Amino acid sequence: MFQDIPVDVGIAYEGERIRRPQMYLEFGGPKVKYKFELARVRKPEEVEDGKVKIVGPDIKDLPEGSSVPLGILVEVAGSQLEEDLEGIIERRIHEFTNYINGFMHLNQRYDIWCRLSKEAFRKGLNSFTYIGKVMIRLYKADLPIIEKIQVTFITDPKEVERMYHEALKIYEARDARARGLRDEDVEEFYGCTLCQSFAPTHVCVITPQRYANCGAISWFDGRAASKVDPKGPIFRIPKGECLDPFKGEYSGVNKVVQEKSLGAIKRVWLYTAFGYPHTSCGCFEAIAFYIPEVDGFGIVHRDFKGPAINGLPFSTMADATGGGRQVDGFHGISIEYMRSPKFLQVDGGWRRVVWVPKAVYERVKDFIPEDVRDKIATDEDVKTIEELIEFLKAKGHPVVERWKEKEAEKVEAKPVEAEAVAAAPEAVPQITGMTGVSISGIPMAAGGLRIILKGAKIRIDKVVIKRTGSGGK
Ligand code: SF4
Repeated sequence: MFQDIPVDVGIAYEGERIRRPQMYLEFGGPKVKYKFELARVRKPEEVEDGKVKIVGPDIKDLPEGSSVPLGILVEVAGSQLEEDLEGIIERRIHEFTNYINGFMHLNQRYDIWCRLSKEAFRKGLNSFTYIGKVMIRLYKADLPIIEKIQVTFITDPKEVERMYHEALKIYEARDARARGLRDEDVEEFYGCTLCQSFAPTHVCVITPQRYANCGAISWFDGRAASKVDPKGPIFRIPKGECLDPFKGEYSGVNKVVQEKSLGAIKRVWLYTAFGYPHTSCGCFEAIAFYIPEVDGFGIVHRDFKGPAINGLPFSTMADATGGGRQVDGFHGISIEYMRSPKFLQVDGGWRRVVWVPKAVYERVKDFIPEDVRDKIATDEDVKTIEELIEFLKAKGHPVVERWKEKEAEKVEAKPVEAEAVAAAPEAVPQITGMTGVSISGIPMAAGGLRIILKGAKIRIDKVVIKRTGSGGK
């Protein structure tokens, strides 16, 4: 694509994975504490158009196999550019750097993880200057409102750390803008398909109260992006008819998601992890995961080291969650969504959350309802499910009431079962064609209902076999 760049550049390379054996070196990622990417809109005189600056050692000066701190700063100027656009200009770093054959970019903001392949380094991709040049050209081609652009790569550890803290403040200010605006107050939501290169059926639905999974695009960012680049990967979603305000189902969302996922996803319930949950790509900041032993949710974020309370590390759960699917009980979310009043509202919201890493708890605790704030365990409080159960009982967490209700239901259901067996065969549920049946008080409709039992233990006390032909019992 570009004669002066030693490797190919093109959309075909988006989604390319570089595994450790193929890696020359990596930037950011789980082994590196400080990393970030940031876009800023500047005055024209503050930007030297086309400039690529490197602060710290360049690629060729870094030892092979190392994990290096990295900051990427994109500064732009243009008469139509506003601060509102910074979020989406920043998110395009992910897309444009992934076009480079042999360079992989994952995640966003304070959590970036980039890898350069041995093959690309061997071909001559040994300087950030090449990566910066590609970014500048792609930005200008795709977003003509950018009149001037300069890109800085920072690998000096002290400077990365200093700027990381600055960047966190800027992200927080952006996120705070969308708080207070309700989904009911707007006529349209926004969609994003930037992650389809990794998860082909994934469509993010970005609403004021459901931030994008990656935590990098707010409703305001979506609005700004769809205005400047209406045919781009971020687009308008007219809400249409509200089919269920509690679950968050809208006819317009269903229609657009169906189109953009090429028919793979037909319905979306925005505020739940069950039924028709929002899809998860791979860039989510955190996962809300169901814990059957306590009938509650745990949350684990990308940077969490070691296994979560269910014994699984983030990477294992990410495989079960991502890929653009709707997976019951494994739900990709952003940190900002946890601050939303609509956060998993169908499932009980924060009153159903039982475990979070301390690092996440500290970031969101002011948004947790006061009556449950000190009843949620962190990784510092408990290490096993048994300890978690004791913790929840001792604190009087709302899920404990659910356990009692379920126990009571079981006790009530027992005589009914006994009666049903005693009165057999007449009282044994008949399943013929589409007839409705009831098992232990759970209404079911045969045909058309899918029941998935996960982590369930099934105990059968008695099996009644009934002959249905002539001849009776
Ligand atoms: S996670 Fe969603 S909003 Fe973020 S880049 Fe991917 S598709 Fe877009």
